[in-house]
Amino acid sequence: MPCPVCGEEFEFTPQDLLELHEGDIIGCDSCDTELEVIGQGETLELTPLEYFTLCPRCETDFELSEEVLLKGGTVECPHCYYKFEPDWQED
Ligand SMILES: [Zn+2]
Ligand SMILES: [Zn+2]
Repeated sequence: MPCPVCGEEFEFTPQDLLELHEGDIIGCDSCDTELEVIGQGETLELTPLEYFTLCPRCETDFELSEEVLLKGGTVECPHCYYKFEPDWQED
């Protein structure tokens, strides 16, 4: 199963598939994205956790794009167009 962000293949054993449940979070070793498990067994899918950040200027909460999550760097607030670097350590 490929990582939906970077395309790296995850190799799940049948045992892994039994142990993964909807809502579990796994990390991709390759791109460090946290992925949420949707469905189970044959229908299992991985989807990137959505990350939100808070604009330090206007305090709007907005979602970070996959591109930003992958590359890092600065983001632009969709509300006030303020550019800043999100705190990547934040949960
Ligand atoms: Zn990945
Ligand atoms: Zn803003």
